[in-house]
Amino acid sequence: MRNIFDLTREEFENYFLSIGEKKFKALQVYEWLYQKREFDIDNFSNIKKEIRDKLKNSFSNHFITIETKEEDVDTKKYLFRLEDNNFIEAVVMHHNYGNSVCVSSQVGCNMSCAFCESGRQKKIRNLEAYEIVEQILAIEKDLGIRISSVVIMGIGEPLDNYDNIVRFIKIINDSKGIQIGARHITLSTCGLVPKIYLLSKLPIQINLAVSLHAPNDLLRNQLMPVNKVYNIKELMQAIKDYLQVSSRRVTIEYVMLMSVNDSLKEAQELGDLLKGLNVYVNLIPYNETNHLEYKRSSKNRIMAFYDRLKKLGINCTIRREFGSNIKAACGQLRGSMKDK
Ligand code: SAH
Repeated sequence: MRNIFDLTREEFENYFLSIGEKKFKALQVYEWLYQKREFDIDNFSNIKKEIRDKLKNSFSNHFITIETKEEDVDTKKYLFRLEDNNFIEAVVMHHNYGNSVCVSSQVGCNMSCAFCESGRQKKIRNLEAYEIVEQILAIEKDLGIRISSVVIMGIGEPLDNYDNIVRFIKIINDSKGIQIGARHITLSTCGLVPKIYLLSKLPIQINLAVSLHAPNDLLRNQLMPVNKVYNIKELMQAIKDYLQVSSRRVTIEYVMLMSVNDSLKEAQELGDLLKGLNVYVNLIPYNETNHLEYKRSSKNRIMAFYDRLKKLGINCTIRREFGSNIKAACGQLRGSMKDK
């Protein structure tokens, strides 16, 4: 049975038409679920019982459950249990401008980035759109807050789950639903080039972040096997296309791995690669994991890399760190759950 949080408003309209009802009922259902936050179909008081029964027979309203929650001042990390007893993570960060949440897109991940904890866990399955929507709803309910921005940067490669991610984006962006504006939604990809071209054609123009992590193919092949399928040249072409179609700035993520990709030579190469493009580089201090061969770059090396990029005229920031003392970093909570 399909989950009620899996439908776009348009799909609800089609559903109501298919049972011989008026399509404005879709709006009423959306208002119950996403504005009044009433999840019990029996309480949809402006919808008559006969239709409520049909809804109950057509859709499940199963909800993901909170398995554990770890708290820090500005960060809370959730481990959720899914209907099939798989686990996923989401992290909420409290900023002065609002609350943002980092959601997972898959159970595990097949991209096998050498330094990444999720990558060694392998993909078990894609998340359905409702399981991503529910990460947001569950956190809002638990904390009594509203989420103002969403980053699709948790476990999984979102563009390897393209259709469900697009459905998720449509649902959370709907003006009668959760209402998260396109400019407040960011999708991070390791670089699945054909899907970047597809994404650029989506009418909802979200922010794109690309995990580059190396400025040349030799190094990127070692760190990110996806580069052997879509190399840097092809990836840069897709980024340029996205910039042109969307006229939005693209974020380039660059994780700082001590003595691996953090020398001035690499800073220079990165600067040359990105020169003149409307991008900004987010330098991410590596969160050390069980991949003992990778260490976080020292502060000095990060600063030197940053200064070189700036000198080359590249917009650049160093990611503020959230929650590294509660394992909020990248697949670690789910990893430690699996170890138990
Ligand atoms: N698959 C997508 C989104 C999930 S990963 C992607 O690759 O972009 C989100 C980001 O965290 C990516 O940039 C990823 O390379 C990075 N990352 C993974 N493990 C990390 C770690 N231990 N420390 C810091 N960043 C990490």
